[in-house]
Amino acid sequence: MVMINKGLGLNANIRVLIVFLFIGIFCICVFGSDRDEGTDFVLVKNGKPVCCIVVSENPTPSARVASLELQYHVLKMTGAELPIKNDAEPVSGRKILIGDSRLARDLGFKSSDFASQEYIIAFRPDTLILIGRDWEDTEVNRRELGRPMNCGNTLADTRQKIDYWQTVGMPLRSQGEIELPGVYDDQGTCYAVYHFLEQFCGVRWYGPNEISVIIPSQSTLMVKGRDIRRMPALKYRDALWSGFWPFMQKQWGTVSRAEVFLFWRRLRLGGEKWAGNHTFHKQTIEKYFTNPEYQAKGSGSGTQLCYTHPELIREVSQMADDFFDGTKDVPEGWKAVGNYFAIVPDDNLKFCRCERCSELISSGRNMWTGQFSSGRMSNYIFSFVNAVARELQKTHPDKYIAALAYWEYALPPRGFDIEPNVSIAPCLHTCYYAIHKEMFENDMTLYHDWLKKAKAPVFLWNYYHHPMEAGLGGGFKCFPNIMVHETAKIMRKFIEDGIRGIFICGEQDMLEGYVIAKIWDDPTQDVDAMLDEFFRLYFGNASEPMKKFYLQIEQIACNRKNYPEPYYKPNGIDWKNVAWTTLGTEERMKELGELISQAQSLAQIDAEKQRVQQWREALWDWMVKGREEYLLQSKK
Ligand SMILES: [Zn+2]
Repeated sequence: MVMINKGLGLNANIRVLIVFLFIGIFCICVFGSDRDEGTDFVLVKNGKPVCCIVVSENPTPSARVASLELQYHVLKMTGAELPIKNDAEPVSGRKILIGDSRLARDLGFKSSDFASQEYIIAFRPDTLILIGRDWEDTEVNRRELGRPMNCGNTLADTRQKIDYWQTVGMPLRSQGEIELPGVYDDQGTCYAVYHFLEQFCGVRWYGPNEISVIIPSQSTLMVKGRDIRRMPALKYRDALWSGFWPFMQKQWGTVSRAEVFLFWRRLRLGGEKWAGNHTFHKQTIEKYFTNPEYQAKGSGSGTQLCYTHPELIREVSQMADDFFDGTKDVPEGWKAVGNYFAIVPDDNLKFCRCERCSELISSGRNMWTGQFSSGRMSNYIFSFVNAVARELQKTHPDKYIAALAYWEYALPPRGFDIEPNVSIAPCLHTCYYAIHKEMFENDMTLYHDWLKKAKAPVFLWNYYHHPMEAGLGGGFKCFPNIMVHETAKIMRKFIEDGIRGIFICGEQDMLEGYVIAKIWDDPTQDVDAMLDEFFRLYFGNASEPMKKFYLQIEQIACNRKNYPEPYYKPNGIDWKNVAWTTLGTEERMKELGELISQAQSLAQIDAEKQRVQQWREALWDWMVKGREEYLLQSKK
């Protein structure tokens, strides 16, 4: 977003220069500054509110939260409380219109005129308009069926309720619970307010709790700008960081679930309704596919089905029909939401051994890659996916079957095309890309093959679970896999390639998590500028050593040379034994330890001290302990 401003400023400057040559210096100063930065709007003057917020008498869940968020942040920033009025009462003077209202309509702004996820920040004389497409709280909308990817079993589960003022640390102002806009519901008005607070007021949400939020202090709040109308670049943004994994958890410190719920909205995570995950498994089979004829022959019985069975194909396509007609929800344990109905087999390779299935399976025997992502089951699985998709075309040509390209069916099938209404989501090992050539190349080959073949929107499942998951499961502490530059680069490529949405499996550290969310929103953002800004705002006096500490870990983790054989394997990494031998060496640990000590002695104010301490516990103490434990174990 910083870039947007720069771009506009430059063009305007060139225009100003040309005008300068023709008209003369005085005119240009006035005209030029106006063209340069747009219109002034004063919210607070010397600690006193000089405008009010106006919402509809019946605001959408998005507009309700958006107005509170603006009121709270301005209050924290300036000490002034902007009154929130509704459009049924008389309003005069300078105002900020949030979401639909009578006044916004009079100026030509209507939420339903915006595309899904689109919003505007508009400057008019004495009026600022913050509005976008919002989900409307109607009975019909509440009846929408679906089993989303995250946040619970139903769409209703994604509309979490919080006590807003309690959540932001001002319980005395509590007005009881409010419902947040659903994670996957339209909330363009919230996006407009969050974009406004970031770009025009300097607010930064690096984490969910007070210590991880930057709210600059000032007694006068005046903004200047031009209209911005846009939407996030990536449409489905599923990285609902929760602090469940050690780094983010400790870097954030104590957080409540309500703070996390609000944080997802502030980072504009969620977005379009998409879901794709295993749908055939014990839970759904025991309840809904009990017909003995459907069961996989052989050891997979009970978790896999006979995916060539014509009646099964008919039954599954009927489920999709019913779901899209809105007459019958998919069973619990299934995934289907919005325009996407997922079909993905259970997470094992015990496929049916009947004659029909065996023949298709054996047709893929030459499609082994030697990597986890391979293709021996691709012809088999995508024959089934295609068969269901063909049935769905007859009744709902505008809807999609969502399928994962995963494990032994990661490659596109050979000998036949994929149906145009199959929306594919390749599962990619993003967390290996900096260091593992073969895995990267294998992933890129299948990814580009799918891009060529797919006619429906393509989504991605991005792995960020290694090495942390291997460590948590294997009882060792991994070397922190910080790869923020590599991550930003690949995310940018995915967006440029037209990927519609990304689901992230795993949790990086809090800063990389933040950068991912920002790049997804606007891939033109400069990562180094974002990192510089973070370290400066977050650690203040201690910023230099903290930045060095972080970037040094990244350099170590992302250097292919630090993963020699035998730790480097053709299809993976021995994470346990590489961590404290060739990554976290004695010498490097000494340097990193010195940087942390420097940071601790430089930190002056309480917030700096607390943040350095939390990062120290999250990353440095983890590393020291990991190395100690490893060395102790190796001696035994
Ligand atoms: Zn079979």
